[in-house]
Amino acid sequence: MTLSLNLTHLYPDNLNLYGDLGNVVTLKRRCEWLGIDCQLKALNLGDAATSGQTDIYFMGGGQDNDQLAVVDDFHQLKQVAIRDDTEAGTIFLGVCGGYQLMGKTFLMGDNQETKGLGIINVKTQAPSKEVKGRCIGNLVVELPSETHAEMQSIYEQPKEIPQTLVGFENHSGQTYLGQDVAPLANTHAGFGNNHEAEYEGARYKNVFGSYMHGSMLPKNPHFADYMIWLALTRKYKDPTIKLKALPDMEEIAAHQYIVQRYGKP
Ligand code: GLN
Repeated sequence: MTLSLNLTHLYPDNLNLYGDLGNVVTLKRRCEWLGIDCQLKALNLGDAATSGQTDIYFMGGGQDNDQLAVVDDFHQLKQVAIRDDTEAGTIFLGVCGGYQLMGKTFLMGDNQETKGLGIINVKTQAPSKEVKGRCIGNLVVELPSETHAEMQSIYEQPKEIPQTLVGFENHSGQTYLGQDVAPLANTHAGFGNNHEAEYEGARYKNVFGSYMHGSMLPKNPHFADYMIWLALTRKYKDPTIKLKALPDMEEIAAHQYIVQRYGKP
């Protein structure tokens, strides 16, 4: 039996900064290499979402204006279906502006508070006199040991995978985690969620938020595989599903270069 996954890219026309599209390309291409049929669909302004049709959602980053351009459409045509899906365990990755949008509220530069999608309990504050400036630069972060151990257990053959994730951040919004939300990783280099936090990103059920552009998944193939594995085990209700261990020589070389250049010794 050929396994299959449905991947939905939210607002590719509006939310796509610093190569975010590479995340979708990576998921699709890795599925092909892993022998999984992956159907990709885009939902843009004016397109309604239907629950139960998607295994993985992806939403990229955007400037404040781009976020404002989609938020009403999201509330009217997509929020209920996607919220139902993510509450039931569907995988969702939001990057930067997309991550901010998924939260409860976000404040724009003019301090105007906007109601977010409420898919994950985080809120994002605009820069103000108290906020020191934009968070820009390379990020090197370390995954919790339990997540790393789970990521290592998803392969048919033993595979050594990094405990780090790497990416590039560029945001002024400062994100704070609420109840029931865990940080995605501890920050080694860069800022992550806000100037004070020593962690980056967030996880609630299978909803992941991250500030990593760059794009994120091509340089973190282990995280891409983890998303694919979570989606497959959920869809087929079979926790014993394992993935082929792909060699990932170039991907890991790119990852390690960033770790060595910017990470803690
Ligand atoms: N508009 C947001 C900020 O600057 C997100 C930017 C982005 O997606 N890179 O905080």
